Amino acid sequence: MSEDTIFGKIIRKEIPADIIYEDELCLAFRDINPQAPTHILVIPKKTIPRLADIADQDKELLGHMLLTVKSIAEKEGLSNGYRVVINTDEDGGQTVFHLHMHLLGGRSLSWPPG
Ligand code: 5GP
Repeated sequence: MSEDTIFGKIIRKEIPADIIYEDELCLAFRDINPQAPTHILVIPKKTIPRLADIADQDKELLGHMLLTVKSIAEKEGLSNGYRVVINTDEDGGQTVFHLHMHLLGGRSLSWPPG
């Protein structure tokens, strides 16, 4: 279950995280292994393991998460741009099976990803 992931433990405050934003729908905290000067994860409080598991009823939640990403990017001063990534399942490189958006910025990011 998603509650049993490390992110479930962070939502329930059972383990510490550098939380920078929280509301009734989502939580944002700094990645423990940052890949860019700014590397923040935005996660839903609701249990959704993968992007492949979203449903019509999650439309508002997903839009809210993107608006949260945009707001955090502004607060972090990422005026030169940034990248938002959702790794999905094995080939997508997902390692924590609780849906999350990576917000990466503060340096120029190459393309394509590895
Ligand atoms: P994924 O590979 O699933 O897309 O991303 C999972 C991310 O979670 C990785 O970037 C990893 O560094 C981060 N992460 C894993 N465990 C923890 C943790 O306990 N705390 C924090 N803040 N980030 C974590």
